[in-house]
Amino acid sequence: MLIDFHTHSSASDGDLAPRVLLERAIAAGVTAMAITDHDSIAGYQAVQSSTGSSIQLISGVEMSCVWGATTIHVVGLGFDPQSPVMDSALDALHNARRERSVTIAERLASRQVVGALEGARAVAGESQIGRPHFARWMVSEGYVPDMNTAFKKYLGQGKLGDVKTFWPSLNEVVGAISDAGGLAILAHPLKYSFTRMKLGGLCNAFKDAGGVALEVLNGRQTPADTSQLKQLASHWGLQISAGSDFHREWQYGAELGVDTAIAGTMPAVWEHLL
Ligand code: AMP
Ligand code: MN
Ligand code: MN
Ligand code: MN
Repeated sequence: MLIDFHTHSSASDGDLAPRVLLERAIAAGVTAMAITDHDSIAGYQAVQSSTGSSIQLISGVEMSCVWGATTIHVVGLGFDPQSPVMDSALDALHNARRERSVTIAERLASRQVVGALEGARAVAGESQIGRPHFARWMVSEGYVPDMNTAFKKYLGQGKLGDVKTFWPSLNEVVGAISDAGGLAILAHPLKYSFTRMKLGGLCNAFKDAGGVALEVLNGRQTPADTSQLKQLASHWGLQISAGSDFHREWQYGAELGVDTAIAGTMPAVWEHLL
């Protein structure tokens, strides 16, 4: 069975409108999915009532938060989208993104990159504004040859455009998802470039906060990474989740859909959601 519990639409930094994303998933044979936009459920809400019977759409979001000095992503699944806790948490994140974009632009200006706020806002349009919109604008203005260079030089982890001060804590975000009746999943645990020791610390804090699962497959990934993550989940008594992290059709990215066989004998979040 194919599922996908990590995908992006044009409500955040994905290219496809929510409806088009859904159609693509159906065409790929996905039977259950979540649209997990960054700090927004607008994409999910736009299609939730009209999915038909060919696919089960679960409420989803990928929330930004901070743990120590690192931005961490937590996927929330199966929460009540009308929950006031979730509503105010998402509202706070929306404001955080707006304020963050001002700071990112100020910092870029200190490096002679001028007009970034207006530029990134124009690229984002109605979408939840984020670093990819800054990156795309920088490419279009010729500051960098491609998005990857924009992240490597200006926006990626540890660079001047990596502004974390506005994010809520890991505890707050996991708490909001849990209070809204959802499952909190630690997204792509290997993408934070932590040592094994620090990754253990994060799993411990995540579990203490009420987190229930680790994302053991995120897009294209080596089998070695998947087995490391499954071991980590098992060590910390966490379930597993998986998704493509699809943003657009891209030669280095994964297509929509993950085979549930990935779980093997491990407990998986889809056992509770489907
Ligand atoms: P933000 O949500 O604003 O913090 O931006 C983070 C997003 O930037 C991630 O979800 C990715 O989609 C995107 N991203 C991160 N690194 C890169 C990169 N090297 N090239 C293109 N996009 C990236
Ligand atoms: Mn993204
Ligand atoms: Mn992420
Ligand atoms: Mn994502």
